[in-house]
Amino acid sequence: MPEIMTSTNPALAFAGMFQDPTNRWFGLYVAVSLAIGCIVFAFEARQDPRLEQEGLLRYLFPKEIYTHRSALADYRFFLVNKLLFAVAFGALVAVSSSSVEVVSFALRALGPSPEFPVPRAVAIFVTTILWALAMDFGLWFAHWLLHKVPILWEFHKVHHSAEVLTPLTAGRVHPLDDALNIVCSAICGGVVLAFCRFFFGPHAQIFGVLQLNILVAIFYLFGFHLRHSHIWLPYKGIWGKLFVSPAHHQLHHSVAERHWDKNLGFVFAIWDCLFGTLYAVDRRETIQVGMNGTEEAEYHSVRAMYLLPFVKAWRRAKVHWNSLAGSAIVHPPPAE
Ligand SMILES: [Zn+2]
Ligand SMILES: [Zn+2]
Repeated sequence: MPEIMTSTNPALAFAGMFQDPTNRWFGLYVAVSLAIGCIVFAFEARQDPRLEQEGLLRYLFPKEIYTHRSALADYRFFLVNKLLFAVAFGALVAVSSSSVEVVSFALRALGPSPEFPVPRAVAIFVTTILWALAMDFGLWFAHWLLHKVPILWEFHKVHHSAEVLTPLTAGRVHPLDDALNIVCSAICGGVVLAFCRFFFGPHAQIFGVLQLNILVAIFYLFGFHLRHSHIWLPYKGIWGKLFVSPAHHQLHHSVAERHWDKNLGFVFAIWDCLFGTLYAVDRRETIQVGMNGTEEAEYHSVRAMYLLPFVKAWRRAKVHWNSLAGSAIVHPPPAE
């Protein structure tokens, strides 16, 4: 889920990310991903003596990836972007979550709540699952829009312009891209929560510890940070149809046309399955990371990552308007 930072002091909010279990950058999630990377190394080194010779450190942090121009841009953008937008996103989430109140109000206006007499544990279980599914669908839908709507794609290109994947590439996201993700997931989650409250009454709560949805914590603990890395960790068979593995997302970053617009999911792969955008990871594929092989380098500065999407979106809009104006001249309305 998109991270939410609540402190009004950007520096404190930045430091707080690594200590907050509701945030994807929580230290434990990063550490567990690193530990899983070590396990993958142990398996791969057994079959490849060359890896054994090179050693664990070289395997986890290859110099050609972590010192690549694209990775250096990731580090700078991560720092600047998190400091600049930490506070703004807290406010955005507060606005978006009001969808629960709006939908609850609308439902109450339609009639009295049936308040089904289900045990409290059942109400909490159902609400937790449905809320997580709804939030995740919101993220899938936002990602689909970012790929399919040309103007939005200009903003999503910032993420796809990465030529190597490091865990900090997850933060290489334009603020408008982030905002769309937060709004879509908060609205979908809010609508479902309002329905659950309507049908189950006050028992419709999300199971969690310290405001952390337990499902989100489990997901982050399953090697979340490896999705932006060179370490291949696939969920195969039925697991790969249910959950998005690091390998699924790595293929999403591939320049190969067969991988374009595939594996758009965040936690659950079911939306990709349902809407025909799943690309299975049962077989290992060597990929080149990027988008089209021509534009990537233009985005390897903080300034370009912020401003280039606006410039390119404006150019695209102008071409579109000009073509509309042109077609209006070519096809004048019939004379009466
Ligand atoms: Zn994408
Ligand atoms: Zn990505």
